[in-house]
Amino acid sequence: DLLVVGSANADLVIGVERRPAAGETVLGSDLAVHPGGKGANQAVAAARLGARTALLARVGDDAHGRLLLESQRAAGVDTAGVLVGGAPTGVALITVDPSGDNSIVVSPGANARLSPDDVRAAADLLASARVVSVQLEIPLETVAAVAEAVRTAGGETGPRLVLNPSPPAALPAEVLAACDPLVLNEHEARFLLGEDPAGREEAPEAWAAALLARGPRSVVVTLGAGGALVADRDRTVLVPSLPVEAVDTTGAGDAFTGALGWRLGVGDDLETAVRFAVRVGAAAVTRAGAQESFPTAEEVAAR
Ligand code: ADP
Repeated sequence: DLLVVGSANADLVIGVERRPAAGETVLGSDLAVHPGGKGANQAVAAARLGARTALLARVGDDAHGRLLLESQRAAGVDTAGVLVGGAPTGVALITVDPSGDNSIVVSPGANARLSPDDVRAAADLLASARVVSVQLEIPLETVAAVAEAVRTAGGETGPRLVLNPSPPAALPAEVLAACDPLVLNEHEARFLLGEDPAGREEAPEAWAAALLARGPRSVVVTLGAGGALVADRDRTVLVPSLPVEAVDTTGAGDAFTGALGWRLGVGDDLETAVRFAVRVGAAAVTRAGAQESFPTAEEVAAR
C-alpha cells in the first residue's frame, strides 16, 4: 500500500562532555550504531503499524548497509527495491553533550546516488503503490522523478504523493503541485515560505494558506506537542496532540509521516489519517531513539 522513496543512514552516536575545537581530540562514550535516515525511518514506522510497506533506497555494500536491510526486514518492510552499491552507506556522525544537544555531520554516501534512473527502473513498484512517500535526503532530481512518475501513473487511480521537505530545500513548482499532502514542521514551513510575509506570522494557518497557494492539493503542518494543522482548499482543521511525557522527539516526524502515508493508502480521508498519525507521533516521543521508539498499532490503540 505504501512505498517510501528516501534515505537510509547509519546513525553513529557518541556521548561527549564537550565538542572538540578545531585540531583538538576529546574522548567520548562507547559508540552506538542505530539504523536511521528519514526514508528508512518512515518505512519502519509504517510497517510496525501493520502497513504493507516497500522501500526504494540505496545503501552501500558494507556492514551499515546490511544493518539497515536487517532493520527493515525485521519490521516487515519489503526490501526488494533497496539497491546496494555505488558508494558507502550514508552515515550521520552524531555527538551528544550532557545537555542533550546534538552536533551532526551527515555523509549522504549511497543516498546521493539514488538516481532518476533508479526511480524509472522501479516503475512497477511505483505503479502498484497507493501512496508514495518521499523526503529530501536524496537528490532533488530523484524526488522530481518520483513526482513525475506519480503524475504519469494518473490521477484518481494512480498513487498519491506525500512529501516531507526535510532537510528543507526550494521545490520546483511541478513537485509542489504533485503533493497531497505536503507534510512539514514549523521550521520547514518558514524555510519554504522564505520572503513571503506569511512566514513571519505566528499562525500556522497563515503558513498553510500561503503554502497551498503554491500548488499542493493539501498541506499538513506538524506542531510538536501542539499536534498538527490540516489544510486543503475547502477547510483548515487543527488536530490536537495527546498530552504525553516527551522523552525523546527524535524521529517523531518520521513516525507521523509513515503513519499518515499508511492510513491514506488504506483509504482514510486526510483529517482521519492525521488524527491517527498524531497519536503515533505522540507515542514515538515517549521512548528514546528513532526506529526503536515507533509503536505498534496495539500500542497506539491502548492510548
Ligand atoms: P519533527 O519531528 O519533524 O520536528 P514535530 O516535532 O512537529 O515534527 O512532531 C511530529 C508529530 O509528533 C507531531 O505532530 C505530534 O503528533 C508528535 N509530537 C511531537 N512532539 C510531541 C510532544 N512533545 N507531545 C506530543 N506529541 C508530540
